[in-house]
Amino acid sequence: MEGIGAAPGRALGYVHRLDFDVPTVPHRTIAPEEVEAEVGRFEVARDTARSRLEVLARETGSRLGPFEGKMFEAQVWMIDDPMIVDGTLAYIRENFLAAERAFELQMLEHRVKMLDSGQSMVLDRLADLQDVRMRVLSSLMGLAEPELPGEADQPLILVARDLPPSMAVRLDTSRVVGFVTERGSRGGHSVVIARSLGIPAVVGVGGVMESLGQGTRILMDGRTGQLMIEPSELDLERYERGRERLAARRRALGESVDERPTRTLDGIEVSIQANVDRPDEVVRARRLGADGVGLFRSEFLVIGHRDIPSEAEQYEAYRMAVEAFPDHEVTLRTFDIGGDKFPMFLAAPREENPYLGWRAIRVCLDLPELFLNQLRAAVRASAHGNLRVLLPFIISVDEVERTRELLDRVYDELGDVAPVRPLPLGIMVETPAAVELLDRIAPLVDFVSLGTNDLTQYVLAADRGNAKLAGLFDAMHPALIRQYRRIVRASRAHGLDLSVCGELAGEPAGLALLLGLGFTRFSMSLAMIAEQREVARNVSVEDLADLVGDAEWKDGAAARAALSNYLAGQGVPDGDGVRLSAE
Ligand code: PEP
Ligand code: MG
Repeated sequence: MEGIGAAPGRALGYVHRLDFDVPTVPHRTIAPEEVEAEVGRFEVARDTARSRLEVLARETGSRLGPFEGKMFEAQVWMIDDPMIVDGTLAYIRENFLAAERAFELQMLEHRVKMLDSGQSMVLDRLADLQDVRMRVLSSLMGLAEPELPGEADQPLILVARDLPPSMAVRLDTSRVVGFVTERGSRGGHSVVIARSLGIPAVVGVGGVMESLGQGTRILMDGRTGQLMIEPSELDLERYERGRERLAARRRALGESVDERPTRTLDGIEVSIQANVDRPDEVVRARRLGADGVGLFRSEFLVIGHRDIPSEAEQYEAYRMAVEAFPDHEVTLRTFDIGGDKFPMFLAAPREENPYLGWRAIRVCLDLPELFLNQLRAAVRASAHGNLRVLLPFIISVDEVERTRELLDRVYDELGDVAPVRPLPLGIMVETPAAVELLDRIAPLVDFVSLGTNDLTQYVLAADRGNAKLAGLFDAMHPALIRQYRRIVRASRAHGLDLSVCGELAGEPAGLALLLGLGFTRFSMSLAMIAEQREVARNVSVEDLADLVGDAEWKDGAAARAALSNYLAGQGVPDGDGVRLSAE
C-alpha cells in the first residue's frame, strides 16, 4: 500500500489498530428551565478541556520542545473561538438542545467550512478540530479518552483513521515505532510530532483500516510512503542490514561534533549545510557539524500566528541563527507563504490551483508592509554574522529588481545604523522560468539555490503532495537531469555561487548524481547531514562525472539504479533508512 511519506525513517512492526471514532451524539432537547444548567455544563466541559490542553502543552513542551508545546494553542483557540462558543450557546438557548448536541452541530458546521475552504493550511488543522470535538464531547458525555496501547512484547505500528495530536504526543516510542493513518496531511500536527519523536509516519493511505488487520506485520517507509505488508525474507534482511549500519554509525560518531571538512576521495571539497524550519534546529545543525544553513525556512514566524510578526521578533530569531554559526553563512529564505499555506492574518483567496497561485514572492511584493518588516529585520541581523537572503518562487527579473528596490529603501531608512557589509541576495531556482532566465537574473543576484522539490513539481506537472502521483514525482526524471545540467552551465558562465537545497541533495543517490553534474554545495534536512557527509567522503567526483556525464537514462529508476550500483561498489549504503539525528 502507498500513502504520503510524512515523517522519515523505516520501521518494522505489528499493526495495532486504533478503532476509536467520535462518539455518536443523540438528539436530545431540554426544557426551557434547564437552559442555564446546560450552559453551565458546556462551560465546565470547555474549562476541563482547556486545563487538560494546558497540561498537555506543558508536558509536550518539556518532552519535545517549546515549538511542539505551542502546537496545542490552535486547539485552545478552537475551544475559545467566538463563532463556536456563541453558536453552541445559541443552539442551547434558542433551540433548547442539550449541550453535547448543540456543540456537536457547531463542530460539524465548522468542519464543513474548513473542508470547503480547500486550503491545505486549514485542512492541516482538521485533526486538531477533531481532537477538540472528542475532548469536549467526552467530557459532556462522561466518556473515557481513547486508550493507547499498553504493554507490548512486539514493536507496534499504530494504524488509525486519524491520529489526534493529543494522542501523538503521548506515544511511548519504546513500544510504538511508527504510525499510519487513512486521513491526515503532511502539515498536520501529529506528523510534526512524529518527526520530533524520531518515528516514521505515513498518512493519507486510502482504505488502510479496511485492509490491515490487528497484528499484521508491516514494514513502513516514512520517506516514500510505502507500506510492505508481510514483508519477504529478503526485505527483512535488507531492513536489518540498514539498522545494523545505523547502530554502528551512531556508535562511531558518538557525541562529538564532526569538525572535519568533507572531501571526496579525489579531494573535492563539498559543503554540507542544513535545512532548518525552526530556530532551535539551527543549534542542532551546529552540533551536527553542518557547514552553515543553506535554507532557513521562515514560515514558522507566520504560519499559525494571528498577527504579522514584528520586526523585533524576527530580528531576534535571525540574530540567534547567525550567532549560532559564527564561522558559516546562514541563508534566510523570505516567507514562502500563500499557495497552500496561509497565516491567519491573511485572508486566503480561494484558488483552483494553489501551487500555481498567489504564493511566496508574489505575496511579499503585494504586501510591502509584511516584506519590508522581514527585510529590515534581516539587514539588522546581518550585522551579527554572515546572513544571506534567499527569494522563493522567482519567475522573473522584475521580481528581483523590485526586491532590490525594497532592500535599498531599508538601507536608506536605517542610514548610519545599517551594517556596512551588504546583505547577499539570492534566488531559489525552483521554477522552469528561473532556469530559463538564469543568465538574465545572474547579474542581479549574489547566489542561487536549486529547489528540486518545486522544480520537479513544475517541470513534471505533478503535485508534490499528491500520494497518487508519488510514482510520477521523480527528481531524477530525465527532463530534470537536463535542467540541472543547464543550471550548472549557466551558473559557471556567470560565476554564480550555486547550491542545492531540495530533497534530492539529502538522498545518497541524489548527492551522487549532483556531484557528478558538478554541484559541490548542498543543504539538507538535519536527519541526513551525517550520512551524506559519509557518502561524499566515499565517492570520487571524477568517477561520478564519467558516470553521469551526458548519460541519458530512460527514466528516474534507471538513473537511480546506476547511481546506487556505483555507491554499492564504494561500500556506501543507499536508502536503507539509515538516519542519524542530532539527539
Ligand atoms: C524546494 O522547492 O526544493 C525547496 C527546497 O523548498 P520547499 O521544499 O520549502 O518548497
Ligand atoms: Mg520550494
